[in-house]
Amino acid sequence: MITIKTFEFNYFSENCYLLHDESKEAVLIDCGACRSEEQKELTNYVTENDLTIKRLLCTHLHLDHIFGNEFIYKTYSLKPEAHKSEVEKLPPPADQARLFGIQTPVKPVEVARYIVGNETIKFGNSELIALLVPGHSPGSLAFYNAKERFVISGDALFCGSIGRTDLWGGDQEILIAAIKDKLLSLPDETVVYPGHGPTTSIIDEKYNNPYL
Ligand SMILES: [Zn+2]
Ligand SMILES: [Zn+2]
Repeated sequence: MITIKTFEFNYFSENCYLLHDESKEAVLIDCGACRSEEQKELTNYVTENDLTIKRLLCTHLHLDHIFGNEFIYKTYSLKPEAHKSEVEKLPPPADQARLFGIQTPVKPVEVARYIVGNETIKFGNSELIALLVPGHSPGSLAFYNAKERFVISGDALFCGSIGRTDLWGGDQEILIAAIKDKLLSLPDETVVYPGHGPTTSIIDEKYNNPYL
């Protein structure tokens, strides 16, 4: 049984998810921990629950989702994993920071491994399937667990909204088609954990999302 711990981090109110099961192994998804209080909140939770973080997964490499990567590398010796298109088509974090007018220095941490669509990602006694949902960014991934019926949707799908498509490699037509194909095709009761804002469900977004 997977426990999903949500942290809300940085200036963009980004949702970082720490998934762990009875084995005490965990995967960290989109570590946006920027301020030292945020980083402490995360490490305290890991320590208190006696967890071992095995992997750092990125739904995509926009600045708000990677603020904490350097911290995670220094603390747990883990390098991020992401889709290849994110590495190839997005500017480095320092350039993204300039565009958003953010002063906090962000050092890049090399992506150690590329995740491909439909890949199975294992940790502890659990697994996730990586779903390629491009459009918000060129290599956006969602992480789906069929058994426990949830999906971490990154910035592709939000409660009542979808991701912006005016950033590097964004494309609204591609995004809507990918959401319909990869996400709305999941079982209705699947709980959606987005990159920003509250959780939702596939059935709610299928019928109530004005963009779809
Ligand atoms: Zn984004
Ligand atoms: Zn975001």
